[in-house]
This record gives sequence, structure tokens and C-alpha cells, in this order.
Amino acid sequence: MSGPKKVLLAAPRGYCAGVDRAVIAVEKALERYGAPVYVRKQIVHNIHVVTELEQKGAIFVEEVDEVPEGAHVVFSAHGVSPAVVSAAAERGLQAIDATCPLVTKVHREAVRFARDDFEILLVGHEGHEEVEGTAGEAPDHVTVVNSPDEADLVEVRDPSKVVWLSQTTLSVDETMETVRRLRTRFPQLQDPPSDDICYATQNRQVAIKKVAKDADLVIVVGSANSSNSVRLVEVALEYGAKAAYRVDYVDEVKQEWLDGVQTVGVTSGASVPEVLVQEVLAELSGAGYRDVEEVRTAEEDLMFSLPKELRTDPAGRRDERALGGRGRA
Ligand code: SF4
Repeated sequence: MSGPKKVLLAAPRGYCAGVDRAVIAVEKALERYGAPVYVRKQIVHNIHVVTELEQKGAIFVEEVDEVPEGAHVVFSAHGVSPAVVSAAAERGLQAIDATCPLVTKVHREAVRFARDDFEILLVGHEGHEEVEGTAGEAPDHVTVVNSPDEADLVEVRDPSKVVWLSQTTLSVDETMETVRRLRTRFPQLQDPPSDDICYATQNRQVAIKKVAKDADLVIVVGSANSSNSVRLVEVALEYGAKAAYRVDYVDEVKQEWLDGVQTVGVTSGASVPEVLVQEVLAELSGAGYRDVEEVRTAEEDLMFSLPKELRTDPAGRRDERALGGRGRA
């Protein structure tokens, strides 16, 4: 090994505006209505965030039929299908919709293209909650395309009326490859009106690409079910990192990963609190990686209003935390 040990810290990283807003929504619902507040699915895909909210009184359920009639339920940042909204209403639940506005935007696109009788090729991962929610807006019009290879096989009814949309947290490069292959087969394929892969996903991928080319090892903080965190590992490897691993917590960092490593890249997924990254940096510092250089490729200042159910207090006054949800790192 030549030269000093060093960390390249990617920025932006960590919390996006949609995650911040969803977590604040649960905290605010707990403050306002008292525990327990039910949350359908993990509010965001991060085990640390979910555990902390559980300690404050949130109860996470898989489906709304597990929530007592009349109780408050928060829908997660990944969004829900209209069938879930109806099921909650039928149970008399008081729903608070923490769906990220950028996911809602894709839902609206699906509704509009289905209304115009387009067949929608939804690039995304079958079974992911966001894909279930978006597909559920127009189940008869949506076909999920999981990968570039699936683009070679998918069949459509009318190749002159096809549009592609996507999950918000995919690899930009892989999605473009899927679309390229779809367009080879369906030249009249329409593009979404604007990018469906969200700003946070794109920004984190651009930053890790820059870090990865100079890194012997990349550590991505994020949970296994976090799509954008898993994508960051893939992108790091694709862009030159000699090794890349995902960890939920610092104690998962293995000493042997650091053998012979001069430069460590560090980043985190869009659902990860910064404290978890700082714990990894402290561990690396203890191992001699005290020189930390931030590699910033974008500034983020997007903020979203809280879900409408929480924007005013019970007396109808605007809540002082009505603007929640800021991308931070
Ligand atoms: S990753 Fe993107 S779509 Fe998902 S919550 Fe964050 S801003 Fe919204």
C-alpha cells in the first residue's frame, strides 16, 4: 500500500426529502394522537428508523386488516394502490398518507396513460411495495419489466400505444438499458413526461460513481430491502470500486475488508439517518482512516409539505412543522 489511508465521503447521501417527510409524519401522528399509531409496511426501508419509531409507539403491520377499526394508520413513503385506500376506508381507519410526492407523481402518470388506453411497461422490481402501489392504479394496463433481459421478452397488445414508466429507486444506467431494448422492439414507445427515477436516487448514484473510481473499498450504509441502497453497491462495483458492501450498522463492517485498503468510499441510501454513517466513520478513524474528504456532486434543498392530514393542528391552525422533509447530506 502506498500513501496515507483515506475516506472519500459521498455527498449527497442519506435522507431524501420524501423519507424525512414520512418519518416526521409518523412522529407527528404519535404526538397528536398518542400511541399506538399504526403504519402499513415499513414507513421507509431502514431497520434503524423502524426500530426507533416502534420504541416511540408505532406499530408496523403488513395490511390494513390488522389495524383496529377506527384507528389511525399511516401509509408508507412507497405508496399504496387504490385497493388499499378503499380497504382502509371500509374499516373506518383514519388514514395519513405519507406516500412520497415523487411516487404520487408516477401514480398520476399511470392513471393518465391508462385512461388514454396506453399499455404501460413499468420498469421496476416485481413485489416491491412501490411497484405494487403504482401497478395497482391501473392493473389492466400495467406490465412490470424487471430487467433488461425481460425487455426482450415482454409482449404488448398494440405496439403503437406503449409507454414506459419506472420505479423511483432504480439504477439509472440499467433502466436506460432496459428502455433501449424495449425501444428496439417497440419504436413508438413513449417516454414518461419527466424522470421517474427521483432526484435523490440519481444524485446518490452520481456521487458514488465519482467516489468509486478512486476507492479500493466502498461501504454503503442501508438496509437489504432498500432498493436505492442496494443499487448503490451495484453502481460502485460497476464504476471501479474493487469491493463494495452494504451494512445496516457499523458492527457489520468486517476487519478483513480493510486488508490492504488505502481508500475507502462511504455513502448511504436515501432512508438512512446520518448518525449511522458517522458511526462507520468513527470505526474507520479507529482503523487509521482519519483523513475524510467529502466528494460532493450536487446540493439538495428540496422540501415537501407534510401529509395534508397533519398540516394543521386540531383547531385548524397551520402547524409550525408543516414543512417537513428536507434532503440533508
Ligand atoms: S427515494 Fe426518491 S421517491 Fe423515494 S422517498 Fe426519497 S425522494 Fe421520494
